[in-house]
Amino acid sequence: MGKYNISELLSQNISPMMRKYLELKSENMDKIIFYRLGDFYEMFFDDAILVSKELEITLTGKDCGLKERAPMCGIPYHALDNYLPKLVEKGYKVAICEQTEDPKYAKGLVKREIVRIVTPGTVIEENSLKDDKNNFLCSVYGDGDAIGLVFVDISTGEINVINPITDKEYIEKSIIEILKYNPKEIIVNDSLNNNDKFIKEINKRILLLINTVGDNEYEYDKAIDYLKLKFTDEEILNSELDKKKHSAFAMYMAIKYLEETQMNELKHINSFDCYNDYEFAYVDISTKRNLELTETLREKKKNGSLMGVLDKTSTSMGTRLLRHYIEMPLKSHAHIIKRHDAVEELLEKTEVRNSLCELMDKIYDIERLCTKISYRNANGRDLVCLRESLKTIPKIKEKIDLLKSPLLKEINNNLNAMEDVVSLLESALLDEQPITVKEGKIIKPGYNAHLDELTNATVEGKNWIFQIEAEEKEKTGIKNLRINYNKVFGYYIEVTKSNISMVPDYFIRKQTLANCERYITEKLKQVENIVLGAGEKSVNLEYELFCEIREKIYKLLPVLQNTAKSIAKLDVLCSFANVAYKNHFVKPKLSTDGTIIIKDGRHPVVEQMTKDRAFIPNDTYLNNSDNSFAIITGPNMAGKSTYMRQVALIVIMSQIGSFVPAKMATLPVVDKIFTRVGASDDLASGQSTFMVEMNEVSHILKNATKDSLVILDEIGRGTSTFDGLSIAWSVVEYILKNKGSKTLFATHYHELTILEEKLKGVKNYQIAVKKRGDDITFLRKIIEGGTDDSFGIEVAKLAGLPNDVIKRAKEIVKFLESKNLDIDKIELKSIPEPKKEDKEQIGFESIVDNSVIDLLKSIDVTTLTPVEALNILYDLSRQVKR
Ligand code: ATP
Repeated sequence: MGKYNISELLSQNISPMMRKYLELKSENMDKIIFYRLGDFYEMFFDDAILVSKELEITLTGKDCGLKERAPMCGIPYHALDNYLPKLVEKGYKVAICEQTEDPKYAKGLVKREIVRIVTPGTVIEENSLKDDKNNFLCSVYGDGDAIGLVFVDISTGEINVINPITDKEYIEKSIIEILKYNPKEIIVNDSLNNNDKFIKEINKRILLLINTVGDNEYEYDKAIDYLKLKFTDEEILNSELDKKKHSAFAMYMAIKYLEETQMNELKHINSFDCYNDYEFAYVDISTKRNLELTETLREKKKNGSLMGVLDKTSTSMGTRLLRHYIEMPLKSHAHIIKRHDAVEELLEKTEVRNSLCELMDKIYDIERLCTKISYRNANGRDLVCLRESLKTIPKIKEKIDLLKSPLLKEINNNLNAMEDVVSLLESALLDEQPITVKEGKIIKPGYNAHLDELTNATVEGKNWIFQIEAEEKEKTGIKNLRINYNKVFGYYIEVTKSNISMVPDYFIRKQTLANCERYITEKLKQVENIVLGAGEKSVNLEYELFCEIREKIYKLLPVLQNTAKSIAKLDVLCSFANVAYKNHFVKPKLSTDGTIIIKDGRHPVVEQMTKDRAFIPNDTYLNNSDNSFAIITGPNMAGKSTYMRQVALIVIMSQIGSFVPAKMATLPVVDKIFTRVGASDDLASGQSTFMVEMNEVSHILKNATKDSLVILDEIGRGTSTFDGLSIAWSVVEYILKNKGSKTLFATHYHELTILEEKLKGVKNYQIAVKKRGDDITFLRKIIEGGTDDSFGIEVAKLAGLPNDVIKRAKEIVKFLESKNLDIDKIELKSIPEPKKEDKEQIGFESIVDNSVIDLLKSIDVTTLTPVEALNILYDLSRQVKR
């Protein structure tokens, strides 16, 4: 609730301008109104107070007929693109109120109307959008039986319709879908909004703006009729949208909302894709984050993520589609194989691939150009970019003609070079275009005869007048006849009194002065008409012609969008092929029995980060029967997490259509991938590290199936040893008995390795290290069998913990181990006090690294061979020099 009551303000004696503002505000209480006054957008009253804080701009006041000045703040109209995104990103809705008539011609108060409402899910401003990311608005319609979902990105025109989810877990499943798209805004029908479970879960997992729509607004037939106006009958029929009540209502809500907010026909929103929620593998948000699929965990950068490795796309459309592919791995064997086959062919035909990439480099973001055309925002530069992009299409088609794979053929069929549009743009537009469309310099000479006349007139006008002057002198014989110009008469012929008798009949007298007469002629007036105002006229005509051209393309938007989509697909496939070529990835085979066989698998990201030392490849074997659950032990820093993530990434890469980093891989198609990795506090939602961990585990246990891949990197570490061990133990049992998911489980609870004997399916693995004395060398090789060495203290030493801390830790661990590791039974009070050091005497230990002492202590000199002695001496000297 704000400080000001709008209806109370309206009842007072206020200025007409402010009355109009308040009237608009009273109809748009949930929005901030940007009210256009001359060169500024102004905000008043509560909006002004709020915006001045959010945008850190000065709060002033305006006289508006009230006793007190109205609080006011404003931004220059041309800075809208800088300020608007900041408010929208914070979740506000902004109504843009423009002057809809030219103040020059307005009688009384200038007309003002709200022309667009900008919300987080409907922004199209370039500053609010990322080239490589979609911006989705989600619409959900749910009742007691089912849920229908629709996702729209108005910046690209993409619409995805999820067929109604009807099983009893429809709330959970719809939330899973919503999380996949990560929308910025959601529209929900009333009864779903009252569903506590749905709303709570949404609020817990994602930050977005929620809008509600009343249930009683729905009449099925009306909704379908409305949608038939927007989409073709054929599309509705083929998709059977009219038979999917929940999806149809969700679509109806989305389109209505867009029309209400955008106040535009939205021509570029003209088709949609329908699919079932189970057609794509589920990768939840924390898994995406943990596996660093599209950005790194800490710095949120693309570089260092899977996307960073896979993205060698040439166009922004390709980059966005690649992100979409990564976030929604396929589940259909046939579709995956189609992508793999296309990548294989592109990989083999290097020359074709290179030419395709070079050609695509010249293609602009056609999808977002289409949006600009749809909003009539596209300028001359945009259309020149479109022309240049379209000019490459025939060459691209020529190259794809050389390829055989079905997916590439499909792409080729959907590529339309739009020759007519290209020749229109070629004949109409100058190569160099200004930013604005209302200042001329847009249209080429020769495109429009009238425009040529006008242009000619501005340049040649003066010459024509001189010509008339010379002609008239000759015809009349009046030697001092002059043509002059003034604002009142325009061009006129001046003849001195002495020559008046020679003036012919066709001279029309306009003015008599003391010593001369002024005339006009038909011809002079005709030429004047052309010359005068030719500049302004030509600028106006150029604008008209430009708008005509834009309208012609507007009508062809669906064809253009289809081409854009196909270029995006081609771009991603070429990127996969390039990355596979550069990084020696191989084509995976798909297994149908759930088996994972990876020979010499590598982590696609870490292998690029460890350029100075070789990345050690590792094998993986998991199946659905006797080897479904790998318990992986090994010292800290051995490479457990890297190994497990690498398996998950290889599976995901295969399912998005990419080749994989391995020597050979046979992979299943998994339905879901879960990872529970590391510790992270979620302080914002008031959850401790342990609580976050348990939430994630519970989510996995609820949702995993026998076709899922589960990665558990430590569980139960955030609590006491006994509690943690017990939780970890029972989770292993639960997954094996109730889920059967293929699982990789890294743990420091070595006690769990006993489960290999107790439970069918469990296999122990360890990441090998070489030990000498207290020193360890990481071999990074996974081998069968468990280990009970943690080497935690040694790794802490490597990390540079002070020697005193390391020494004391060793004393304590020695004591604890002597008590059989039964930590909860140990009287911790009985841990011995630290050994006192003789401060006076500088001991050998204080000048030499502990590891040297430890190594010396471990040697039995009497049994050493000369070569061993030499090796030890070499190691010792290296350690002291280090
Ligand atoms: P902790 O138990 O402490 O979490 P960890 O066993 O999970 O450790 P990782 O974090 O996976 O160990 O790996 C430690 C470091 O080892 C990584 O930063 C990576 O650079 C390197 N590494 C891991 N695997 C390999 C490999 N196969 N080849 C080369 N380097 C590797």
